Amino acid sequence: MLHLSQIKSAAISAGFDLYGVAKCQNLAADRAFLEQWLEAGYGAGLSYLERNIHKRADASLLVEGAKTVVVCAVAYKNRFSGTYPSHCRQKIASYATTVDYHTTIKQMLQQLCTTLKQQCPTLSGRVFTDSAPIFEKRYAVEAGLGWIGRQSLLVTPQFGTFVLLGVAVLTEECDSYDTPLQSVGCGECRRCIEACPNNAVIDRHIDTRRCISRLTIERGSESNTTPLHGWIFGCDSCQSCCPYNANAPIATNPLFAPTFDPPQTDWQKMSEADFTAHFAQTPLSRTTLERIRENMEE
Ligand code: SF4
Ligand code: SF4
Repeated sequence: MLHLSQIKSAAISAGFDLYGVAKCQNLAADRAFLEQWLEAGYGAGLSYLERNIHKRADASLLVEGAKTVVVCAVAYKNRFSGTYPSHCRQKIASYATTVDYHTTIKQMLQQLCTTLKQQCPTLSGRVFTDSAPIFEKRYAVEAGLGWIGRQSLLVTPQFGTFVLLGVAVLTEECDSYDTPLQSVGCGECRRCIEACPNNAVIDRHIDTRRCISRLTIERGSESNTTPLHGWIFGCDSCQSCCPYNANAPIATNPLFAPTFDPPQTDWQKMSEADFTAHFAQTPLSRTTLERIRENMEE
């Protein structure tokens, strides 16, 4: 048996800013929504979204005997989160200016699990950071971290949308579970819908075909005719407008500090070797220097 208080202490020790615990459950409604969304073409043919949908809805298909999902988040708002001048043609989503969170958060989750295993030796499970098909935002809501905003991201009262999630799917029951937050939400606000320069935010979901984040990072070899509005990797426009981000503090965890300055970087003069040397540890490793230069032209 896991204990809620011990999980939370372990999450704090591992460096997480937010944490909550939810019971494993069948997320049939989320599965149906995803299937309809894909059928409508909003997924832009991204094959990883179409694979293993049944596993997203049932965590026990990822971890046999799964009982408990621990959801943890790190706040990452930094000096590039919504501060680029409008004429800037070298904008990079602020999460991508740091060391790749997949690496960092996975290590933090492993530390959390090591601590829990010392307290509960029969425990087993797996940790995920965007690395498996699981409805992590839904579990974050169930675990009381926040709610799903109109731009389909998790919104937290303390840190807005500039949070990165990781989950641990565990095989033991917990002595108690968190519950969804009450009396919070977007209310009448529609700022993220209005802020998207390509009208890709459709209340509670995204039309990925028009989303700059996909177009700059995941468009493959297809030619692009959709404007990128100065973004060369990712896009923060539907986040920086969110009122919950205005008062969110700048992250102080050095693991999530920017490692470069996008507008000050000379992407044209850089060699491929320089690009690899400087950005291999960052999310920019998902793209190429050539693609970044192409995006600057669009
Ligand atoms: S990331 Fe940018 S393009 Fe995509 S929905 Fe948000 S504002 Fe629109
Ligand atoms: S900008 Fe407004 S509508 Fe969009 S997520 Fe934030 S609070 Fe919700």
